[in-house]
Amino acid sequence: MFIDSHAHLFFKDYQNDLAEVIKRAQDAGVDYIVCPGTDLPTSKQSVELADKYDMIYACVGIHPHDASKADAKALEEIEDLSRHPKVVAIGEIGLDYHYNYSSPERQREIFSSQIDIAQRRNLPVVVHSREAEEDTIRIIEGKLNNGKSWRNNLVHEYDRYPPPKGVFHCFPGDSKLAWKLIDMGFYVSLTGPVTYGSKPNKPNSMEEVAAKVSAEHILLETDSPYLSPAPHRGKRNEPSYVKLIAQKIAELQGLSVEDIGKASSFGVHKLFGIGKYPESAIAYRIRNSLYLNITIRCNADCVFCDRKGEAIVKGNNLRITKEPNVDEIIRTIGNPKWYEEIVFCGFGEPTIRLDVLKDVAAWVKDQGGKVRLNTDGHGNIINHRNIVPELVGLVDSISISLNSMDVEQYGRLMRVDGRIFFPAMVEFAKECVRNKFDVTMTMVDLDEVDEAKARAFVDKEIGAKFKNRPYF
Ligand code: SF4
Ligand SMILES: [Zn+2]
Repeated sequence: MFIDSHAHLFFKDYQNDLAEVIKRAQDAGVDYIVCPGTDLPTSKQSVELADKYDMIYACVGIHPHDASKADAKALEEIEDLSRHPKVVAIGEIGLDYHYNYSSPERQREIFSSQIDIAQRRNLPVVVHSREAEEDTIRIIEGKLNNGKSWRNNLVHEYDRYPPPKGVFHCFPGDSKLAWKLIDMGFYVSLTGPVTYGSKPNKPNSMEEVAAKVSAEHILLETDSPYLSPAPHRGKRNEPSYVKLIAQKIAELQGLSVEDIGKASSFGVHKLFGIGKYPESAIAYRIRNSLYLNITIRCNADCVFCDRKGEAIVKGNNLRITKEPNVDEIIRTIGNPKWYEEIVFCGFGEPTIRLDVLKDVAAWVKDQGGKVRLNTDGHGNIINHRNIVPELVGLVDSISISLNSMDVEQYGRLMRVDGRIFFPAMVEFAKECVRNKFDVTMTMVDLDEVDEAKARAFVDKEIGAKFKNRPYF
């Protein structure tokens, strides 16, 4: 369920009990451990560990602390080592201006050369950046090919290679910087300090990142043997403690520890190729609710929706290739009372399959379960009639995407004709309130949308609840 994406298991700290450390990790639900080298000898040791243990994967690289010891020969050997089938990244590499054990110039040279290796080998990088974020990003950005095609333009060697990708390990920045890096194709990984709590005069930036960055873009790491999470702070760290880090992030995101494990393992899979791509699911669990994914069709085409992309939510693959029938859905649910709610909500508009929705909802109610419908509010147009009264007794609560208060903006965000669909959605919502459903209007948290105005409108005109959901 969990992957410790950064643990230095070659250190002497583990020489007497590594097998037990690994056993404890397995017992705690850790599926894989990624072990980054810090110089040439430890990179070799990482590869040896990966050879010895199925669950261990290696990264090879020279840490900025050791940059002064590295020469062309060492870089060549790193590149050779990177051809081993269990080497998943070049790392850990980067810049550390806090200690400056090697001169900043030398650190930059070695960092830059190792990104070149990663690009040549099409591998990600594991980045260590301390008090050096600006230079770190500048060097990475210098490796982008600026969209030039290598076929036509061989000005830079990098034009032939994919842009750099990777993870900022033990991420030191705030959520704003995290999103910038994510937009560049990077992940951020969080470790023990996320559990240390904030002090009034010293806010914990890892907590802020854990709360505001989507779980799919956060990797979990222990950085063993350093940075043990609470309550082991100050003692030797080990991969089994990765669960404590997941627990803290789950708490901050209002999700379950399983949700965080699944979502971050998917990130590791995408970046390092470890583990499996999740199989598509018609039902998926988030927190204590079961979500039903009955269609991937939608009448709208929202700019922020990944329906036509990978369609992954918290590590769950919603890209179904065949729409399930009523029996299949009921079999998948099992017992509705195991869950707080059964929610019709996938990467598609559930009212497109109104008959299936009604049959499944009737069964859930019959079994004593609770039903929620998440909809774009276009169900009456889709079905050419007022469907709201048909849902009475089958559905308990309804969440409707409000998206915007501005007709033109609504149309632009959802790529529909706002003049027709906005008033239809508002009328649908009012009809739901008249029919005594528990109605919530939801809005994606986009800077361009006027939240205060929307809140007031929902309260006064519709008489429903309002919920802003983060834009991930
Ligand atoms: S209404 Fe929902 S499913 Fe349809 S495009 Fe928009 S976000 Fe995606
Ligand atoms: Zn490290």
